[in-house]
Amino acid sequence: MISVLEALEIALRQTKRLPVELVPLLESAGRVLAEDVATDIDMPPFPRSSMDGYAVRSEDVRNAPAQLAVVGFIPAGSYPSFSLQPGQAAKIMTGAPLPPGADAVQMVEKTRAREEAAAVEILESVTPGNNVSPLGSEAHQGEVVLPAGAFISPGVVGLLAAIGKSEVPVYRAPAVGILATGDELVEVTAKPALGQIRNSNSFTLFAQVRQAGGKPQLLGVAKDNKNDLRNRIADGLQYDLFLATGGVSMGELDLVEEIFTDLGCEIFFNKIAMKPGKPVVMARSASGGMIFGLPGNPVSATTVFEVLVRPVMRKMMGFPVYQNQMVLATLTEPFTNRSGRENYAPAVTWFEEKRFLVRPLKSKGSGDIVTYAKSNSYMICPIHRTDLLPKEQVVVMLRPDFFYC
Ligand code: AMP
Ligand code: MG
Repeated sequence: MISVLEALEIALRQTKRLPVELVPLLESAGRVLAEDVATDIDMPPFPRSSMDGYAVRSEDVRNAPAQLAVVGFIPAGSYPSFSLQPGQAAKIMTGAPLPPGADAVQMVEKTRAREEAAAVEILESVTPGNNVSPLGSEAHQGEVVLPAGAFISPGVVGLLAAIGKSEVPVYRAPAVGILATGDELVEVTAKPALGQIRNSNSFTLFAQVRQAGGKPQLLGVAKDNKNDLRNRIADGLQYDLFLATGGVSMGELDLVEEIFTDLGCEIFFNKIAMKPGKPVVMARSASGGMIFGLPGNPVSATTVFEVLVRPVMRKMMGFPVYQNQMVLATLTEPFTNRSGRENYAPAVTWFEEKRFLVRPLKSKGSGDIVTYAKSNSYMICPIHRTDLLPKEQVVVMLRPDFFYC
């Protein structure tokens, strides 16, 4: 059985970045830039006041207080047609261009207007450059301000807007097909009869794919027979990424891996030393689509998605970092791991008094989504550790939902 780390390495090695597409600026957040982007203007494009106040020649106010003649008013959006001579000031608003001759701005709070005399008293001196962003001080026209491979955060969206990029070259988001398998599964709208359960995995995975920036598509529920499985899995192989759940353990009706092979897929592994989530089939279709046969147990399926599939999706989308966010945390209660596998225990992690604390939840097992739904992270118990004690430092894998609960 391979380790979680080995499985992740294999999965990432087999994953290719998707091709580039152009998307409207408003849809670019959460994607990754596929080309260097240069600014088409100097930034700022003129010497810009960062305060409401008075544009001055700093030498005129060296011995403040000093009285200056007010020769103009420069609101944002205008451009001064005059230059400042010795002894002169201009009223200026935040974001407005300095007139030639001025080299600083004194904020309005440190001035006293003498409107009857068209003058202003500057109460404190300013040094050259005070409250002014010089022309081109952030970037010069033609300079690359965003390199290929940059993640498009909201701040990056703003920068792209400022430099006139209404369409953005990004790596394509994967189309992800999601198939549930199992004779016992019924629709969400049905009341399960004896022996039946509702298909929840498809919905969990749909949400995860969407959260990861992919385009999920539900492909229904396959019955545990070769015909139905073959037809529906063949459908799934057309996607950039295909996720099936169930039918990958040792049972008589666990046929998913066999069908993958029948359909010409290359299998890379089918077991991982991980709890939950030992049976996992990773494969690739003849046409290059990535394939995961995830366990049927709901907690296992969603956990394997986080540990393996999310990093694979990040690589497809060109992310600079594939790995999930890990932190060291202080354990608040004892934890036992008799599985002989690396244990990803659903946990609640929070930050308090300068450190992370983690409380593994008392789960009833890998079918227990009631408990799992309360978690925001996984506490990772190493493969060879059987008993963890309170106050120990442990590694925690944060999920994106950590930041919201
Ligand atoms: P399997 O891996 O197919 O043997 O399934 C393991 C367990 O997960 C069984 O209890 C199944 O009923 C359950 N299970 C399988 N698929 C789903 C699903 N789509 N939604 C909820 N539970 C499932
Ligand atoms: Mg099954």
